[in-house]
Amino acid sequence: MAKRDYYEVLGLNRDASEEDIKKAYRKLAMKYHPDRNPDNPKAEESFKEAKEAYEILSDGQKRAAYDQFGHAGVDPSAGGGGGGAGFADFGEAFGDIFGDLFGGGGRRSNVYRGADLRYNMEISLEDAARGTETKIRIPVMTGCETCHGSGARPGTNPVTCSTCGGHGQVRMQQGFFSVQQTCPKCHGSGRMITDPCPTCHGGGRVKQHKTLSVKIPAGVDNGDRIRLQGEGEAGVNGGPTGDLYVVVQLKQHAIFQREGANLHCEMPISFATAALGGEIEIPTLDGHAKMRIPEETQTGAVFRLRGKGIKPLRGHSPGDLMVHVVVETPVKLTERQRELLQEFADISEQDSGKHHPRSKGWLDKVRDFFE
Ligand SMILES: [Zn+2]
Ligand SMILES: [Zn+2]
Repeated sequence: MAKRDYYEVLGLNRDASEEDIKKAYRKLAMKYHPDRNPDNPKAEESFKEAKEAYEILSDGQKRAAYDQFGHAGVDPSAGGGGGGAGFADFGEAFGDIFGDLFGGGGRRSNVYRGADLRYNMEISLEDAARGTETKIRIPVMTGCETCHGSGARPGTNPVTCSTCGGHGQVRMQQGFFSVQQTCPKCHGSGRMITDPCPTCHGGGRVKQHKTLSVKIPAGVDNGDRIRLQGEGEAGVNGGPTGDLYVVVQLKQHAIFQREGANLHCEMPISFATAALGGEIEIPTLDGHAKMRIPEETQTGAVFRLRGKGIKPLRGHSPGDLMVHVVVETPVKLTERQRELLQEFADISEQDSGKHHPRSKGWLDKVRDFFE
């Protein structure tokens, strides 16, 4: 179905002011809002139509493009997204239309920046904390060396495109409007290659692998990106090269979990150490440290070791190591151990509330609950 003219949709003349457009849209939006027309499926369509018209006409740049080229000038489906080579697609979708609008006419050169590339790199927590340097091998499109990027067999030259006469664009009549489009024959380059380069088959670029050295700065975290300028894909028709983004992903660590600058670890301690207190040795990222466990320590207690975390990329002091205590129930007891524990339990039973304040508190709550 052909799209209606946006001015017609809003019931306006082409010289309508910003205020007129706003008013007209408000009126239609009230009239066709789906909440007000639950039994009229056509209302929603009219509402969407009015909304689209308003979005284009209320935006100065889009309105200018629409005035000059009609729907072809503002087609939302030409919005560039989707493809992997984002920049190139975007240039193709908008360059033809806006190039002439704002560039003051003249021949467009179809020079595109090469696509940015992304490389996911998994590194260990230790490497992230200290920083490291590593080599990666990546596939890239680089300028063809045989033809120096021209796409033509060495010794031959591209010829001027006969369809567009070298302009790279052709004019097409669409309703009232004359629309400029990229030449379908030469795809905008204005030139035709009659004798393609044997290496790149006329594309001017070839796929290669290259090895790069990447410096990972100390303190990087999950999702941090390191930009290697000019290491992306080669540009088209002499355009600048894209960038390579190395995206850091931290490998799971056997002991530590990272949370920003802080590290967390679990530390099992014996039932006796928890009750009597004592000194334990705990692992840190660069060795180990001693820590005092106070007597009467319970499961879930968290002790902080200052400065034993990670110094973040943007920050000057390291975070802390948070040690989460877990009291471990002893297993595979010998006869003797059983005897002692049983004796211990019998003695503790005599004044249970005093030795087990948490159990006592809990029992009190249960009693209150049932009364
Ligand atoms: Zn052409
Ligand atoms: Zn070539």
